[in-house]
Amino acid sequence: MSLNQYIRPVTTERKENLTIGGCDLMELAKEYGTPLYVIDEATLRGICHDYKKAFAECKNIKMKYACKALCTSAVVRILDDEGFGFDAVSAGEIYTLHKSGADMSKVLFNGNNKSASEIELALNLGVGRFSVDNFYEAELLNKIAFEKNLKADILLRVTPGIECHTHEYIQTGQIDSKFGFDLSQMDEIITLIQKQYKNLDLHGLHAHIGSQIFELQSYSDEVEILVKEINRINKKFGLKLDEMNIGGGLGVRYTNSDNPPSTEELAEAVKKVVSSADDLTIYIEPGRSIISTSGVTLYTVGSSKQVPNGRKYAAVDGGMADNPRPSMYQAEYTAEVVNKPDDFKKEKVTIAGRFCESGDILINEIELPELEAGDILCVYNTGAYNYSMASNYNRVEKPAMVLVNNSHSDIIVYRETLDNLISHDNIPDRLRR
Ligand SMILES: *Cc1c(COP(=O)(O)O)cnc(C)c1O
Repeated sequence: MSLNQYIRPVTTERKENLTIGGCDLMELAKEYGTPLYVIDEATLRGICHDYKKAFAECKNIKMKYACKALCTSAVVRILDDEGFGFDAVSAGEIYTLHKSGADMSKVLFNGNNKSASEIELALNLGVGRFSVDNFYEAELLNKIAFEKNLKADILLRVTPGIECHTHEYIQTGQIDSKFGFDLSQMDEIITLIQKQYKNLDLHGLHAHIGSQIFELQSYSDEVEILVKEINRINKKFGLKLDEMNIGGGLGVRYTNSDNPPSTEELAEAVKKVVSSADDLTIYIEPGRSIISTSGVTLYTVGSSKQVPNGRKYAAVDGGMADNPRPSMYQAEYTAEVVNKPDDFKKEKVTIAGRFCESGDILINEIELPELEAGDILCVYNTGAYNYSMASNYNRVEKPAMVLVNNSHSDIIVYRETLDNLISHDNIPDRLRR
């Protein structure tokens, strides 16, 4: 087992109330208010160790945390501490990494439409690699690097032609994707780099085949395609490309019906193919599987309603603005009631959010101890793509985030205030009173 295969943080214990990292979640809710994101440091460091152990035999392995999953300064510190580099996709993420003291030479800048100012910032801050996504970007990056009298170290993002589904994969010859170069365009871009783009230094190829992947075969296929393509390019163009970035995507366990592979199984699938390519440096850039399991969200239950001949709803004080995944992707979650034991009388209930959309349902029909106002609900596996996708919809303040470890809690993101919400507003003079 590796920790991405757990639904709950490893330190979760039911005492009188539910506890994580030795902290009573009822107490946390009282101290910091709800909704509250809670990150368990032991689970986060644990999954980092799982990854490092699984890939220990690969001598040239570079782990990069895809920080779009959750990018806050304290989380960056922990990942940097664990020796991870970072995959960043915006000036905001790059700035956060820089300000948090991350090793910028281990940062890879990704994205299908990097702006000139973002590229400049990345070059100024010493970002180690650019994953060049398209012809336009290659020209733009070369131009900016030329103006700065720098060489930009790059990988080329490619679409390997693998389509990933959650439980199956379909290999298609050509995929229509907004990300990366089609393999049929490789010769053209490499010729441009060799002949014209003298400020680009090409090191290898990069692919990322999807997210919440359960099928290891997709990875073996991807790695095989990348290795083959690198060999082909080296031969045809007399190059020595020796870096292969296989992306992220390993799945996690939101509910009992999810069965993601372990980090060891992922490593085996990769090693099976690359043993023949020992001199390659392999990059892996997991996001979700690193941070999801360590995070939970606490909510306070408010109003309830039984629809005659319909569902029973219980509404909580958060929803689609702090966790857009259920309304965006019909994502499913598991939850427990913090202050009621498992043997409490149960009922089937639908957990509704507090936002003004009928689609704002966090969990559809889950069996839980009978809920009443004031109960605290703990929703599991919310570390990834929750806070990072959060909005201020309905002009609601974004929640706080705390880090728990060894019975101690620290705030790592302050709750927004009502004044924060209006701090970027401006009233033109002619409307002033
Ligand atoms: C999103 C993304 C990742 C991380 O994906 P996860 O599913 O969160 O592991 C890695 N690499 C690239 C290029 C991405 O776009």
